[in-house]
Amino acid sequence: MLETPCQALSVQPVHLHALIAEARRCFPHECCGILVGRMQSQCTLEIVRVVPAKNVAASRPDERYEIDPRALLHVESELRNTTDEFVAGYFHSHPRGANAPSSIDLNDARGVFDFARRFFVYAIVSLQGDGGVRWWNLAPTLDRFVQVLSG
Ligand SMILES: [Zn+2]
Repeated sequence: MLETPCQALSVQPVHLHALIAEARRCFPHECCGILVGRMQSQCTLEIVRVVPAKNVAASRPDERYEIDPRALLHVESELRNTTDEFVAGYFHSHPRGANAPSSIDLNDARGVFDFARRFFVYAIVSLQGDGGVRWWNLAPTLDRFVQVLSG
């Protein structure tokens, strides 16, 4: 089985709190947005910024999300002048579900998969209990997500 050889994730509590706060603010709809990161070392992706975006899902925004493409363009233009930061992933919430990816999430991730992007993470925020964030990578086989532990 082909697996990404070395991959670690560094997330500060301030960014975890921002993700949970955004999920609460958007409830009962799904929140969504962009994760900006940089390589802390050859194998460690550090999340440096959480950028909320409008959920422009045409229907059922309580069960779907679609990141406003204008937000993505804006972030990409901001990052054009930086050498070490890049769009490192997307986040969204499951207002009434667990923080595991759905079959829709798998299809969406396949749709934007790019082999050139070695590190691309999906953060899913659950509001169950005290709320929690889990991090996922699309497996190289594109048929499932693999959970990434953050430190
Ligand atoms: Zn989802």
